[in-house]
Amino acid sequence: MATQGTVTFNRDICKGCGLCVTACATHLLVLDESEINRKGYHPVMIIDPARCNGCANCALMCPDQGITVTQDRIACEGVGREGAARERGAGRQLVHV
Ligand code: SF4
Ligand code: SF4
Repeated sequence: MATQGTVTFNRDICKGCGLCVTACATHLLVLDESEINRKGYHPVMIIDPARCNGCANCALMCPDQGITVTQDRIACEGVGREGAARERGAGRQLVHV
């Protein structure tokens, strides 16, 4: 059994500090230089959501609690996603905003 995560950001409160970017060992997070939020910062975004393992290190690192991670279990060896019958985000929510 493996896990996959769904990450959501509150981009309006992100201050672009980059702590979550550094915390992601899979290097999935970047600051979105194409956007400026209400605070005047480039907010964080995820570049390859399918590769998120749901570790929640990014959410734990955010000083403003601007990240929510939901962890889903997935089956291995081509059996398919165990949680496919569930709504995305219906798995174990690790960190609340
Ligand atoms: S949950 Fe883990 S793998 Fe997913 S974006 Fe956050 S730090 Fe990276
Ligand atoms: S740690 Fe929080 S405030 Fe800093 S860039 Fe990431 S989401 Fe934004």
